[in-house]
Amino acid sequence: MIIVPEKEIAALMTRESSFAAVEGVFASMSKRTAYNFPVIREAIGHADALYGFKSGFDRAALNLGLKSGGYWPGNAAKGLTNHQSAIMLFDADTGKIRAVVGGNLLTALRTASAAAVSVAHLARKDARVLGIVGAGHQATFQLQAVAEQRNFDRVVAWNRTPEKLASLAKKAAEIGLPFQAVSLDELGAQADVIVTITSSFDAILKDAQVKAGTHIACMGTDTKGKQEVEAALVARATTFTDEIAQSISIGECQHAIADGSLQQVDIIELGAVINGDHKGRISDDQVTLFDGTGVGLQDLAVASAVVDLAVEKGIALDVDF
Ligand code: NAD
Repeated sequence: MIIVPEKEIAALMTRESSFAAVEGVFASMSKRTAYNFPVIREAIGHADALYGFKSGFDRAALNLGLKSGGYWPGNAAKGLTNHQSAIMLFDADTGKIRAVVGGNLLTALRTASAAAVSVAHLARKDARVLGIVGAGHQATFQLQAVAEQRNFDRVVAWNRTPEKLASLAKKAAEIGLPFQAVSLDELGAQADVIVTITSSFDAILKDAQVKAGTHIACMGTDTKGKQEVEAALVARATTFTDEIAQSISIGECQHAIADGSLQQVDIIELGAVINGDHKGRISDDQVTLFDGTGVGLQDLAVASAVVDLAVEKGIALDVDF
């Protein structure tokens, strides 16, 4: 069994490799060669923690396994990341355990890659202004991955607590893009691509604030009750997702589905666009929206890529198990 500890992931995994793994698994899901198993997530009644499993099987890539972990709100005070996870991969031919891989950084990378894949396939080619809503742990990863997909010339951002935007300003400076903290009205009026990455339970971005032609990647809503954008914006947009079952139950589309302004049949898998089975964006004034709910198969895909890289570089820990 191969072990790739959390501390090795940063030096091993590249954004290019993560992008390719996520794009590949979305394509496989849409071809029905990969499927996610039902998600389990429970409040365990200890340390205020939420703990669960995301699992699945990609028959094309032969990735079988699970990500297990959750959210421990008291961790920050202990100098630890609140989100904790590990990924286990199994040999699809024998069922023997193949690898255990640290899942914390990989979660941020694969989530950012999902938004980046949506931008690569759905945003206008001439997009110049990138807007970010949110400035928590995931936000800098989103900024960096999405910025690579178009020839952006600046970043505008909004956060409920504006002082937290310093981390995004620093990341923008690192990649050489001018950065400005703006109001939501200004953000919607200027941005050609918007990423929302908050843990909000109320709509932050309103339909009227978003201009024609924008691509929005809604990445924060991954639980029943969470919401980042007004349902009317979801209904106005042409809506894409990683997995329709999650989109309508725990993703951003849950609210427009619930108020009847969006029908399930109108939600398109991003994988169908990747596979060339759906045209994706068809006009410059169309609003496209990607509901990135986060699926276990993304975790297995990036973990498998990391195992291959660790073996190739001779730093994989091989344990007789
Ligand atoms: P974090 O706790 O580090 O940051 C939370 C962010 O949400 C902050 O910017 C905060 O200001 C903002 N926020 C919270 N409540 C708000 C409100 N009511 N109005 C406006 N802003 C509000 O969290 P994070 O690790 O950056 O994760 C952000 C979200 O992304 C979470 O909901 C998390 O569950 C989700 N997530 C999704 C995926 C996926 O695959 N789609 C993967 C990882 C995390």
